[in-house]
Amino acid sequence: MTYTASPIAAADTAEQYNSFVPIVEDDDFLRAALEHAELPALLAALAHVNADPSILEESVKPPLPPMDAVIAAQGGLTPRAQERARELAFDGLRQLRDRGSIPAAQPTEELLADIVRFITKDAGDEQLPLLRHELGIPKDYGAPRWTKDDVAPDRDFTVAVIGAGISGMAAAHRLSQASVSYVVFDKNAEVGGTWWENVYPGCRLDTPNFAYSYSFAQKPDWPQAFSTQPEIEGYLQDVSAAFGLRPNIRFNTEVTALAFDSDEQIWTVTVRDAHGAEQQLKFHAVITAVGQLNLPNIPDIPGRDSFGGTAFHSSRWDQNVELAGRRVAVIGTGASAYQIVPSIADQVDHLSVFQRHAPWMLPTPGYHNDIPEGMQWLLRHVPYYGRWYRFWQFWLANEGRLPFVDVDPDWTDPATTSANNAHLRAQLIEHLRAQLDGDPDLLEKMTPTYPPGVKRMTRDNGVWAAALKKPHVDLITDGIASIEPTGIRTADGRLHEVDVIVYATGFRASDYLEPMTITGAQGQDLHQMWDGDARGYLGITVPHFPNLFMLMGPNTGVVVNGSSLFMAECSAEYTVECIGELLRSGRASMSPHTDAVDEFCDWVDEGNRRRAWGVATIETWYQNRHGRASQVWPYSLHEFYDLTRKPDLTAFDFHDLPMRENR
Ligand code: NAP
Repeated sequence: MTYTASPIAAADTAEQYNSFVPIVEDDDFLRAALEHAELPALLAALAHVNADPSILEESVKPPLPPMDAVIAAQGGLTPRAQERARELAFDGLRQLRDRGSIPAAQPTEELLADIVRFITKDAGDEQLPLLRHELGIPKDYGAPRWTKDDVAPDRDFTVAVIGAGISGMAAAHRLSQASVSYVVFDKNAEVGGTWWENVYPGCRLDTPNFAYSYSFAQKPDWPQAFSTQPEIEGYLQDVSAAFGLRPNIRFNTEVTALAFDSDEQIWTVTVRDAHGAEQQLKFHAVITAVGQLNLPNIPDIPGRDSFGGTAFHSSRWDQNVELAGRRVAVIGTGASAYQIVPSIADQVDHLSVFQRHAPWMLPTPGYHNDIPEGMQWLLRHVPYYGRWYRFWQFWLANEGRLPFVDVDPDWTDPATTSANNAHLRAQLIEHLRAQLDGDPDLLEKMTPTYPPGVKRMTRDNGVWAAALKKPHVDLITDGIASIEPTGIRTADGRLHEVDVIVYATGFRASDYLEPMTITGAQGQDLHQMWDGDARGYLGITVPHFPNLFMLMGPNTGVVVNGSSLFMAECSAEYTVECIGELLRSGRASMSPHTDAVDEFCDWVDEGNRRRAWGVATIETWYQNRHGRASQVWPYSLHEFYDLTRKPDLTAFDFHDLPMRENR
């Protein structure tokens, strides 16, 4: 990352993401801003930019983890330690200001190691490689260190990227940096993928912003810690423009089929435009970036199609449907419903929420809050602060959450999976009780029957319970028996009359890469080969499907342990390195050995069996119909990062170019 001390411009150039505003404010202003600082990451950033480890006093070393359900503010620093931390940060800010806001020097390895140990309670050495990527030292670390012009200037090599969502854009940017030609296809009219499609009321992040944004486009001026859908969609549009990706994107174009020709060593990609016109195009490699959660799951409830009112899925929200004054049903109580129900409760005449399993709710008191002004100012004025804050968020998610979802094989309580998990459960129940005091009926209904961590917990700041307590809102826990023209009939025989049904019933995650037809080197059909159990080497490549690379692929999703955007970036960087290897070596294509995939999946399965979601007693989208947790990654982010730096060539079969192209 190159540092420039310049005012933040509109988000229209790549440079602006890494720009900071020089500090010219007086001491009183600095002190006021510090009242709202997230201190551990600020001390880290100031030690870094001032090249001054003396700020990292033992007395202000954050004591977390271990943690509780609610991550303690300021890394668990006592009020007295916070006071000292503010004093140290104040001196650090003045040093920075007095140097004209220019960082003192590139941090040495030793300084970075000191800072990481400070912020991670001495456990951070293994995080150092990932940290360099996150800090962008000395510059954008995830960028390829080669270009096609250097390694294979005369080779014809073009890549199809399917999807212009978060992962497709990451791949497009890395391909651009390597000067590899590519075309991105997206069935939608804009970039954003899931953030373009999901426009339901209340849609917002449940992973903190700084963690859920690109390493190469860190935005210092997020208005909120967990942004709303329009904010994220705007960010993705800005990034697509600032990094020059848009001219290479063909919007309103759906990829329907992929077929590999072994003789020609090339993929035929069939695309269909908005008018239904089909075209077949040739590409040397294909990157699927279609997301994990984009095929709506609309349950096959008896009588579903007989409903006389309006019905739609949460991810296909119909903006034309008026909810005011109407009787609305929301089926499902997962992450989408959690955001929809409180947002529409006050508009509707009556709201019926149909719950099969209650969600666990992770107390997040500031979930909807703005980032305080002082903190916003610091993020804009202290170079690398946002990046250290992002690393801190990764660290807290990993180290603070994973131990709570461990499985102890000797644990016998079916409601929990380990002593840590029981501790978390007790705290979550306490949080529920505090909200539902005096309403034992609702408390019973809202208390989950399965261990915390089996499914992703919803972020809770109290809005869910508040909505369900409203007199015109019912939480219905009797199973749905059928849908009739006028409403939903439950197993107890009662008809709940409604005008609108919202299916907040999740996605068909296991139908991964459907409905595309994908044909491999010997004519294999990918979906037949997988038979509902998507598997890949590092979740990225598949045997018999040369030069097919999957982003957000099998076993690369995260439940509590970080940001799926980071996983997508790692996969994109790995893919571009594989392409670099092909170009350098003069080979046509690569596909992993079956053994490499089996070994990887066995290792991941073993990890998942040690997590609550891996021993789930209820159905979740993480498990496929074979019972394998094929969607999620059980380890920490830095382990995936380390694995995806460079292809292990021994894991692959390589194939030669057709004779005429040999050179
Ligand atoms: P989900 O978590 O899969 O929840 C689906 C809900 O529908 C569950 O409550 C499920 O009940 C219920 N359901 C499914 N079929 C049903 C049926 N036949 N009858 C009654 N209820 C039924 O789906 P989601 O809420 O759309 O979220 C999916 C994932 O997307 C999340 O896990 C999260 O990773 C992501 N997401 C993130 C955000 C964000 O804030 N960034 C927002 C939304 C979604 P059971 O629990 O009984 O299966």
